[in-house]
Amino acid sequence: MKTPFRHQCDVAVIGAGAAGLAAARALTAAKLDVLLMEGRSRPGGRASTEMHGGHALDLGCGWLHSADDNPYVGIARDLGFTVDETPPPWQQMMYEDAFASQDQKAFRAAQAKFYSRLEKAAQEPIDRSASDCLDRDAPWSALIDAVSTYVNGCELARLSAKDFDNYHDSEINFRIAEGYGALIARLADDVPTVYDCPVSGIDHTGAWVSIETAGGTLQARAAVIAVPTNILAREIIRFSPAIPSKLEAAAMLPLGIANKLYLAVEDAEALPDNGRIFGKTDRTDTGAYHLRPFGKPLVEGYFGGECARSLEKDGLAGFASFAVEEICDMLGGEWRKRLKPLAASAWASDPFALGSYSHALPGHWDKRAVLASPVNNRLFFAGEATSPHYFSTAHGAHESGLRAANEVLSALRT
Ligand SMILES: Cc1cc2nc3c(=O)[nH]c(=O)nc-3n(C[C@H](O)[C@H](O)[C@H](O)COP(=O)(O)OP(=O)(O)OC[C@H]3O[C@@H](n4cnc5c(N)ncnc54)[C@H](O)[C@@H]3O)c2cc1C
Repeated sequence: MKTPFRHQCDVAVIGAGAAGLAAARALTAAKLDVLLMEGRSRPGGRASTEMHGGHALDLGCGWLHSADDNPYVGIARDLGFTVDETPPPWQQMMYEDAFASQDQKAFRAAQAKFYSRLEKAAQEPIDRSASDCLDRDAPWSALIDAVSTYVNGCELARLSAKDFDNYHDSEINFRIAEGYGALIARLADDVPTVYDCPVSGIDHTGAWVSIETAGGTLQARAAVIAVPTNILAREIIRFSPAIPSKLEAAAMLPLGIANKLYLAVEDAEALPDNGRIFGKTDRTDTGAYHLRPFGKPLVEGYFGGECARSLEKDGLAGFASFAVEEICDMLGGEWRKRLKPLAASAWASDPFALGSYSHALPGHWDKRAVLASPVNNRLFFAGEATSPHYFSTAHGAHESGLRAANEVLSALRT
């Protein structure tokens, strides 16, 4: 619910992404006077559904991971959204024309060995880089690293083994036909939100928290800060007095890069419904392509890490031409004229995200708890990066917002 700027409220929530929306809704339900401050002109943050070519396309989150423990499944059903339970293509054999089945089996066996080494490494006292568990000279290592770029937004060398091991995944994954972003944006309908109002400073010296915004100064009894770690680490929001522990924690939990590209497909029936191919199986800089998601005449491409960072600089046309070449190398040149660019994300250069989702740098798996802890019972921190086990996800962000709202309620009661 769009609302004009005001100068005072009980609780200011900064950031109308999944975390901020969950916090603001819980605090509003508890009858507090809440104002949600959002820098963009839309809610949802890294959850974003756009219409292109008549299709609802998720340019940010798309999968309801751990769907058996994901509160958005129930929320979606209650709001009349369509929950699609088709298993994801990465849990099935891939399109054999592009990846022979004996090679797929060898790749999955190598990946399983890698994950088992990683699990062991995570039990050691000293945290290590996940790449220490990769046998660089063994076959499939480049592809195992490519999968890390989609899952973690970074190559294994930048990933903490302990943090990765802390992630919980029930391996049940659903989707929302109308878009995950559309669902999360709908949750803004009943929260008073000031859009186009970036926050630049938070002064927590006085009795009230004083929040500097593009619309003026807002005084609140407490604030929930639910912005991405890269925004905090680059001091786009400055705290006065400074909170060095938060700055360090945010910097050690950077957002990796994951980008998506959608191509429209002519005569799509020639491709398998809900199929999947990799662009290349012997290198890390490559895309993973979901063929005919929801049975639609589309290819949904996933790109991660340095590959995603460099491709977004090329704009939609350059990005698409990389993908079309990879797909034609795999499926044949006749596909060139049947694939047309529809939309691509560019999360690294998005000024209100500066990346896609958080990972812990090696040695810094403990920083999620540091980032999550309240300051003087007046500043509360939410966002996917503060989630202990569901970090990097939308439902992790949602749960962190509920956790921060509970902290606010018990602080205000005392
Ligand atoms: C390509 C991609 C694919 C993904 N796939 C999945 C998936 O399949 N499943 C899944 O669960 N998750 C996925 N994710 C991750 C998921 O989208 C995020 O973890 C989640 O949406 C983050 O929510 P958040 O509330 O923590 O942060 P955000 O959504 O980033 O919300 C923060 C809000 O703060 C605002 N903001 C920033 N700076 C300021 C400021 N100075 N002043 C005021 N407002 C500010 C932003 O505009 C934003 O609205 C994906 C993300 C990307 C990018």
